[in-house]
Amino acid sequence: MSTNAAFPPYESTDDSGNVVGIDADIAAAIAEKLGLKLQIDDMDFDGALAAAQSGKSDIVMAGVTVNEERQLVLDFTDTYANGVQVVIVPEGSDITSIEDMQGKRIGTQRGTTGYILCSSPVEDGGFGEENVVPYDDAIAAVKALKNGQIDCVVIDNAPAQELVKANPGLTTLETEYANEKYAIGVAKGNTALLDAVNGALKELMEDGTIQSIIDKYIPA
Ligand code: GLN
Repeated sequence: MSTNAAFPPYESTDDSGNVVGIDADIAAAIAEKLGLKLQIDDMDFDGALAAAQSGKSDIVMAGVTVNEERQLVLDFTDTYANGVQVVIVPEGSDITSIEDMQGKRIGTQRGTTGYILCSSPVEDGGFGEENVVPYDDAIAAVKALKNGQIDCVVIDNAPAQELVKANPGLTTLETEYANEKYAIGVAKGNTALLDAVNGALKELMEDGTIQSIIDKYIPA
């Protein structure tokens, strides 16, 4: 499996360098069902998608949102979690709504739906490419926000909450920017693998395993 382990609680690295989180636990449960050994390769987000596309990795799990563009190059399993794009700002920021982001410097992670949304033209609900700065990962984007290089960060809600908790002085806007669904990506046309992973995923959803893994990392 390929991933980008800078996206807690879906994936991050523990003190010993192991990839941990919701996706790692779900992948382990799927591998067990299929009688396979799980190997996790950590790389940047774009690379994780590309690895599955080329078959270098069997699956990509990285809190990957299903969208039309990605469906052209990857096949996706059923969805296993929901995501919401939210906005992280410094406490006391003059950005208090999505509209306030017009003309501001917006940080995102490179290659993510947050980047795609924000960099689209204003008439499509975005803020224009020239206003969006792509960072290697969420942690780098938040660092730039704290240093005042950008005015806000657009990212999925669950990692946003973890990042805000770890960085006093930051908060998220109440408004939700976009609702999304996460799924596992496999190489286009690899139906045997897609069916096997979907079968395992279905069983794990039906017996409550998936929900209990999510609840473990995202307490209600
Ligand atoms: N859900 C977002 C996307 O698919 C972000 C995923 C990530 O940064 N790991 O683009």
